[in-house]
Amino acid sequence: MNALEYVPVPAFEDNYIWVVSDGHHAVVVDPGEAAPVRACLAKRGWRLSAILLTHHHQDHVGGVADLLKGQAVPVYGPAGEAIAHVTQRLKNGDRVTIAKPALEFSVLDVPGHTSGHIAYFQAADPGGTPHVFCGDTLFACGCGRLFEGTPAQMLASLDALAALPGATQVHCAHEYTLSNIRFALACEPGNVELQAWRDKASELRARNQPTLPTTIAHERAVNPFLRSDSPAVHATLQEQLHEKIFDRLTAFTLMREWKNRFR
Ligand code: ZN
Ligand code: FE
Repeated sequence: MNALEYVPVPAFEDNYIWVVSDGHHAVVVDPGEAAPVRACLAKRGWRLSAILLTHHHQDHVGGVADLLKGQAVPVYGPAGEAIAHVTQRLKNGDRVTIAKPALEFSVLDVPGHTSGHIAYFQAADPGGTPHVFCGDTLFACGCGRLFEGTPAQMLASLDALAALPGATQVHCAHEYTLSNIRFALACEPGNVELQAWRDKASELRARNQPTLPTTIAHERAVNPFLRSDSPAVHATLQEQLHEKIFDRLTAFTLMREWKNRFR
Protein backbone atom coordinates (compact mmCIF):
# COMPACT_ATOMS: atom_id res chain seq x y z
CA MET A 1 0.00 0.00 0.00
CA ASN A 2 1.11 3.53 -0.71
CA ALA A 3 2.30 5.75 2.09
CA LEU A 4 -0.02 8.49 3.27
CA GLU A 5 0.90 12.15 3.54
CA TYR A 6 -0.31 14.27 6.46
CA VAL A 7 -0.11 17.96 5.54
CA PRO A 8 -0.77 20.78 8.00
CA VAL A 9 -2.33 23.59 5.95
CA PRO A 10 -1.98 26.91 7.81
CA ALA A 11 -5.18 28.95 8.09
CA PHE A 12 -6.16 32.18 9.85
CA GLU A 13 -3.62 33.26 12.51
CA ASP A 14 -2.57 29.94 13.94
CA ASN A 15 -4.91 27.15 12.77
CA TYR A 16 -3.81 24.01 10.97
CA ILE A 17 -6.22 22.25 8.64
CA TRP A 18 -4.89 18.69 8.25
CA VAL A 19 -5.07 17.12 4.81
CA VAL A 20 -4.41 13.38 4.49
CA SER A 21 -3.69 11.97 1.06
CA ASP A 22 -2.54 8.84 -0.77
CA GLY A 23 -1.20 10.99 -3.61
CA HIS A 24 -4.52 11.03 -5.49
CA HIS A 25 -7.41 11.45 -3.07
CA ALA A 26 -7.51 13.46 0.13
CA VAL A 27 -9.59 13.96 3.25
CA VAL A 28 -9.56 17.23 5.12
CA VAL A 29 -9.97 17.71 8.87
CA ASP A 30 -11.59 20.86 10.29
CA PRO A 31 -11.54 23.18 7.27
CA GLY A 32 -12.18 26.53 8.93
CA GLU A 33 -11.67 28.18 5.57
CA ALA A 34 -11.80 26.80 2.05
CA ALA A 35 -9.23 28.83 0.11
CA PRO A 36 -6.03 27.37 1.61
CA VAL A 37 -7.47 23.85 1.29
CA ARG A 38 -8.38 24.41 -2.36
CA ALA A 39 -4.88 25.78 -2.99
CA CYS A 40 -3.25 22.75 -1.33
CA LEU A 41 -5.39 20.30 -3.34
CA ALA A 42 -4.88 22.16 -6.64
CA LYS A 43 -1.12 22.44 -6.20
CA ARG A 44 -0.76 18.69 -5.67
CA GLY A 45 -3.53 17.53 -7.98
CA TRP A 46 -5.45 15.85 -5.14
CA ARG A 47 -9.17 15.21 -5.21
CA LEU A 48 -11.26 15.78 -2.07
CA SER A 49 -13.11 12.64 -0.93
CA ALA A 50 -14.36 13.45 2.60
CA ILE A 51 -14.46 16.09 5.32
CA LEU A 52 -13.98 15.27 9.01
CA LEU A 53 -15.07 17.70 11.74
CA THR A 54 -14.14 17.58 15.44
CA HIS A 55 -16.38 20.33 16.85
CA HIS A 56 -18.67 23.18 15.87
CA HIS A 57 -16.39 26.24 16.21
CA GLN A 58 -16.27 28.48 13.16
CA ASP A 59 -12.48 28.24 12.77
CA HIS A 60 -13.00 24.48 12.23
CA VAL A 61 -16.16 24.37 10.09
CA GLY A 62 -16.29 27.75 8.30
CA GLY A 63 -14.97 26.41 4.98
CA VAL A 64 -17.27 23.40 4.65
CA ALA A 65 -20.07 25.00 2.59
CA ASP A 66 -17.59 26.43 0.11
CA LEU A 67 -15.67 23.13 -0.26
CA LEU A 68 -18.95 21.34 -1.03
CA LYS A 69 -19.70 23.66 -3.96
CA GLY A 70 -19.64 21.60 -7.13
CA GLN A 71 -18.94 18.31 -5.34
CA ALA A 72 -20.83 16.16 -2.84
CA VAL A 73 -18.51 14.38 -0.40
CA PRO A 74 -19.44 12.86 2.96
CA VAL A 75 -19.05 15.18 5.94
CA TYR A 76 -18.37 13.44 9.26
CA GLY A 77 -19.05 15.26 12.52
CA PRO A 78 -20.01 14.87 16.17
CA ALA A 79 -23.51 13.50 16.92
CA GLY A 80 -23.71 15.80 19.93
CA GLU A 81 -23.39 19.09 18.03
CA ALA A 82 -25.60 20.69 15.39
CA ILE A 83 -23.31 21.45 12.44
CA ALA A 84 -24.59 22.35 8.97
CA HIS A 85 -23.78 19.94 6.10
CA VAL A 86 -22.81 17.01 8.35
CA THR A 87 -23.97 13.78 6.68
CA GLN A 88 -22.60 11.21 9.18
CA ARG A 89 -23.08 11.92 12.89
CA LEU A 90 -20.58 10.11 15.10
CA LYS A 91 -20.29 9.11 18.74
CA ASN A 92 -17.79 7.28 20.92
CA GLY A 93 -16.79 3.90 19.49
CA ASP A 94 -18.14 4.53 15.98
CA ARG A 95 -15.94 3.58 13.05
CA VAL A 96 -15.27 5.66 9.97
CA THR A 97 -14.17 3.83 6.84
CA ILE A 98 -13.04 5.80 3.82
CA ALA A 99 -12.13 4.04 0.57
CA LYS A 100 -9.91 6.63 -1.12
CA PRO A 101 -7.55 7.31 0.53
CA ALA A 102 -7.92 4.02 2.44
CA LEU A 103 -8.48 5.22 6.02
CA GLU A 104 -10.09 3.70 9.05
CA PHE A 105 -10.79 5.72 12.19
CA SER A 106 -12.38 4.99 15.52
CA VAL A 107 -14.19 7.85 17.18
CA LEU A 108 -13.50 9.06 20.71
CA ASP A 109 -15.82 11.37 22.63
CA VAL A 110 -13.57 14.07 24.12
CA PRO A 111 -15.85 16.69 25.68
CA GLY A 112 -14.48 19.71 27.54
CA HIS A 113 -13.57 22.38 24.97
CA THR A 114 -17.06 21.90 23.53
CA SER A 115 -19.65 19.47 24.86
CA GLY A 116 -19.80 17.24 21.79
CA HIS A 117 -16.15 17.37 20.72
CA ILE A 118 -14.86 14.16 19.09
CA ALA A 119 -11.42 12.90 18.02
CA TYR A 120 -10.54 10.55 15.16
CA PHE A 121 -8.04 7.77 15.92
CA GLN A 122 -6.35 5.85 13.13
CA ALA A 123 -4.82 2.72 14.68
CA ALA A 124 -2.22 2.23 11.93
CA ASP A 125 -1.23 3.97 8.71
CA PRO A 126 0.24 1.74 5.94
CA GLY A 127 3.59 1.89 7.78
CA GLY A 128 2.00 0.88 11.11
CA THR A 129 2.08 4.29 12.78
CA PRO A 130 -1.05 5.42 14.70
CA HIS A 131 -2.48 8.92 14.29
CA VAL A 132 -5.07 11.02 16.08
CA PHE A 133 -6.89 14.17 15.02
CA CYS A 134 -7.93 15.82 18.24
CA GLY A 135 -9.10 19.31 17.22
CA ASP A 136 -8.94 21.71 20.17
CA THR A 137 -8.75 19.10 22.95
CA LEU A 138 -5.06 18.28 23.22
CA PHE A 139 -2.41 20.72 22.02
CA ALA A 140 1.36 20.37 22.03
CA CYS A 141 2.19 21.14 25.66
CA GLY A 142 -1.35 22.33 26.37
CA CYS A 143 -5.08 21.68 26.14
CA GLY A 144 -8.15 23.53 24.91
CA ARG A 145 -10.05 26.09 26.92
CA LEU A 146 -13.15 24.85 28.71
CA PHE A 147 -15.90 26.68 26.82
CA GLU A 148 -18.68 24.14 27.31
CA GLY A 149 -17.34 21.42 29.56
CA THR A 150 -16.19 20.87 33.13
CA PRO A 151 -12.62 20.26 34.28
CA ALA A 152 -13.60 16.66 35.15
CA GLN A 153 -14.84 16.09 31.60
CA MET A 154 -11.70 17.56 30.06
CA LEU A 155 -9.45 15.56 32.36
CA ALA A 156 -11.27 12.34 31.36
CA SER A 157 -10.95 13.30 27.67
CA LEU A 158 -7.22 13.96 28.05
CA ASP A 159 -6.87 10.65 29.92
CA ALA A 160 -8.49 8.87 26.95
CA LEU A 161 -6.04 10.53 24.54
CA ALA A 162 -3.05 9.89 26.84
CA ALA A 163 -4.01 6.19 26.89
CA LEU A 164 -3.45 5.89 23.12
CA PRO A 165 -0.18 4.21 22.03
CA GLY A 166 2.87 6.35 22.77
CA ALA A 167 3.88 6.42 19.08
CA THR A 168 0.56 8.01 18.08
CA GLN A 169 1.15 11.12 15.97
CA VAL A 170 -0.98 13.91 17.39
CA HIS A 171 -2.44 16.29 14.82
CA CYS A 172 -3.63 19.33 16.76
CA ALA A 173 -5.61 22.15 15.18
CA HIS A 174 -3.53 25.14 16.35
CA GLU A 175 0.10 26.26 16.50
CA TYR A 176 0.10 27.26 20.17
CA THR A 177 3.25 25.37 21.10
CA LEU A 178 5.65 28.16 22.10
CA SER A 179 3.23 29.96 24.40
CA ASN A 180 2.14 26.61 25.84
CA ILE A 181 5.77 25.74 26.55
CA ARG A 182 6.21 29.01 28.49
CA PHE A 183 3.34 28.02 30.73
CA ALA A 184 4.54 24.41 31.00
CA LEU A 185 7.94 25.65 32.17
CA ALA A 186 6.25 27.76 34.83
CA CYS A 187 4.51 24.58 36.05
CA GLU A 188 7.55 22.33 35.84
CA PRO A 189 10.79 24.36 35.57
CA GLY A 190 12.97 21.31 36.29
CA ASN A 191 11.58 19.11 33.49
CA VAL A 192 14.64 18.39 31.34
CA GLU A 193 12.69 17.03 28.35
CA LEU A 194 10.55 20.16 28.42
CA GLN A 195 13.65 22.38 28.38
CA ALA A 196 14.98 20.49 25.37
CA TRP A 197 11.60 20.80 23.64
CA ARG A 198 11.59 24.57 24.21
CA ASP A 199 14.89 24.83 22.33
CA LYS A 200 13.76 22.55 19.51
CA ALA A 201 10.34 24.21 19.12
CA SER A 202 11.87 27.73 19.15
CA GLU A 203 14.21 26.66 16.38
CA LEU A 204 11.34 25.25 14.30
CA ARG A 205 9.24 28.41 14.71
CA ALA A 206 12.22 30.64 13.87
CA ARG A 207 12.28 28.82 10.52
CA ASN A 208 8.49 29.12 10.27
CA GLN A 209 8.11 25.32 10.48
CA PRO A 210 5.18 23.66 12.29
CA THR A 211 5.96 22.12 15.68
CA LEU A 212 3.38 19.43 14.89
CA PRO A 213 2.62 16.60 14.86
CA THR A 214 3.67 15.79 18.38
CA THR A 215 3.33 12.27 19.87
CA ILE A 216 1.39 10.91 22.82
CA ALA A 217 4.61 9.68 24.48
CA HIS A 218 6.15 13.15 24.17
CA GLU A 219 3.03 14.84 25.55
CA ARG A 220 2.98 12.49 28.54
CA ALA A 221 6.54 13.68 29.27
CA VAL A 222 6.16 17.44 28.74
CA ASN A 223 2.49 18.49 28.79
CA PRO A 224 1.50 19.71 32.28
CA PHE A 225 -2.17 18.97 31.57
CA LEU A 226 -1.26 15.26 31.17
CA ARG A 227 0.85 15.48 34.33
CA SER A 228 -1.72 16.57 36.89
CA ASP A 229 -0.47 13.82 39.22
CA SER A 230 3.16 14.95 39.05
CA PRO A 231 4.61 15.93 42.48
CA ALA A 232 6.63 18.68 40.75
CA VAL A 233 3.47 20.19 39.28
CA HIS A 234 1.69 19.98 42.65
CA ALA A 235 4.62 21.68 44.37
CA THR A 236 4.49 24.59 41.88
CA LEU A 237 0.75 25.01 42.27
CA GLN A 238 1.02 25.03 46.05
CA GLU A 239 3.78 27.62 45.91
CA GLN A 240 2.23 29.85 43.22
CA LEU A 241 -1.42 29.65 44.18
CA HIS A 242 -1.12 28.90 47.89
CA GLU A 243 -3.50 26.00 47.45
CA LYS A 244 -3.15 22.57 48.95
CA ILE A 245 -3.28 19.99 46.19
CA PHE A 246 -4.62 16.61 47.18
CA ASP A 247 -5.76 15.11 43.92
CA ARG A 248 -5.19 15.39 40.18
CA LEU A 249 -8.62 16.89 39.40
CA THR A 250 -7.91 19.79 41.77
CA ALA A 251 -4.46 20.19 40.25
CA PHE A 252 -5.88 20.10 36.72
CA THR A 253 -8.62 22.61 37.56
CA LEU A 254 -6.19 25.07 39.18
CA MET A 255 -3.72 24.69 36.34
CA ARG A 256 -6.37 25.35 33.66
CA GLU A 257 -7.55 28.49 35.52
CA TRP A 258 -3.97 29.68 36.00
CA LYS A 259 -3.28 29.18 32.27
CA ASN A 260 -6.32 31.33 31.40
CA ARG A 261 -4.74 34.33 33.11
CA PHE A 262 -1.08 33.47 32.43
CA ARG A 263 0.83 36.02 30.32
ZN1 ZN B 1 -12.43 25.36 19.12
FE1 FE C 1 -9.93 26.24 17.21
